[in-house]
Amino acid sequence: HVFTKEEVHELVEKENVHFLRVMFSDLFGTTKSVDLPVSQLDKLMNNKMMFDGSSIDGFVRINESDMYLYPDMSTWLVFPWGEEHGKVARVICSVHMTDGTPFAGDPRNNLIRVLDDMKKAGFTSFNIGPEPEFFLFKTDEKGNPTTEVNDNENYFDMEPADAGENCRRDIVLALEKMGFDVEAAHHEVAPGQHEVDFKYANALEAADNIQTFKFVVKSVAKKHGLHATFMPKPLSGINGSGMHTNMSLFDKDGNNAFYDEKGELQLSDTAYHFLAGILKHARALTAICNPTVNSYKRLVPGYEAPVYVAWSASNRSPLIRIPDDRKMGTRVEMRSVDCTANPYLAIAAILEAGLDGLRNNLTPMKEVTENIYMMTPEEREAKGIEDLPSNLHNALKSLRADEVVRESMGEHLYKNFFEAKTREYDGYRQHVSDWERDKYMLQY
Ligand code: GLN
Ligand code: MG
Ligand code: MG
Ligand code: MG
Repeated sequence: HVFTKEEVHELVEKENVHFLRVMFSDLFGTTKSVDLPVSQLDKLMNNKMMFDGSSIDGFVRINESDMYLYPDMSTWLVFPWGEEHGKVARVICSVHMTDGTPFAGDPRNNLIRVLDDMKKAGFTSFNIGPEPEFFLFKTDEKGNPTTEVNDNENYFDMEPADAGENCRRDIVLALEKMGFDVEAAHHEVAPGQHEVDFKYANALEAADNIQTFKFVVKSVAKKHGLHATFMPKPLSGINGSGMHTNMSLFDKDGNNAFYDEKGELQLSDTAYHFLAGILKHARALTAICNPTVNSYKRLVPGYEAPVYVAWSASNRSPLIRIPDDRKMGTRVEMRSVDCTANPYLAIAAILEAGLDGLRNNLTPMKEVTENIYMMTPEEREAKGIEDLPSNLHNALKSLRADEVVRESMGEHLYKNFFEAKTREYDGYRQHVSDWERDKYMLQY
């Protein structure tokens, strides 16, 4: 629902809103925000809010820096805290140039552009249901995060003394007050690790939700004296954090286009083509869905994270799983994505990969039913199972070679992304770590 000016003013009165948190995302998916007193509401709604685009990572150069924030008034939402001084309302914006055109370097504008391709292909909605995972760490006297997790629980554990549980419950309560439909919240496999799943939404809303979710989790954790991190692999030797991404397409009649009662596994041709597109572009997608050096420390065997490009309806070792749910719930679950991905870019890239599969009637490889972690490299090769890239450098090489995935970002975003990520990898490559000194200092 797009709120009108009158409606918003009424809500401001009714809910005692004093500040506007005007949000957008930079290239890396970091939420940028400006806090405006509510007196600026009309100026914002009239698309008159200017800012300096040259100060934002991956945006523009200093000589062309004036840009405008256009609010998307369907994203109006009041944060459920801060009562004494008045509440804060969220408004998510798109970035526009001084001549009014949408800025091509804004990841949210880019997703809107890509969603047009979906409409041209005859679909009305790309539904995304995310399963973000995160760790809660204790903080020191200064409030900085330590490497000590806050509990020793395990998957689905529920102990009365679980400090993380109180924090997690507060997270869920805050989200619900904001209108999130939380479907599950549970302790994950690793100590200190949690997962909160919320209901699927159309791509744009889902990406907005993911951004807001991360902010809420961090804010609530802080109130509990904890530090929440979405870093993919904060500690070696235990599971990392991913964000399984469930997806489906709805057609013009509101039906789930991935479901076909008569299809193999009750999946439609559309589902198989889409799946084939993701598999074909999987290596390049990894650069966008797993865009940090640390992402690749998670994508290793033995920790429930995917390492190989394959799909299965039954087992959880491949990149793609088809959860056992049919009719409207029919969906494809991509298990590689992590929370360092810019959700606007990741969703756009996955969608374009899937649409490429549809346009070219691609057929996926055969389903892999055995545990891929247990297969030898020869057995994998015989079945045509590729590895996911082993580091950011290899992922970027695959991205550079993949026109479809590059095109999902458009020229401006791609160029800036590729340059920034290449620099990031180079910085890492040149760093000499403790691991190396421990390993080589005495031996050589
Ligand atoms: N934490 C695992 C990962 O890295 C996923 C665990 C699960 O949800 N089954 O992807
Ligand atoms: Mg889950
Ligand atoms: Mg999980
Ligand atoms: Mg899952």
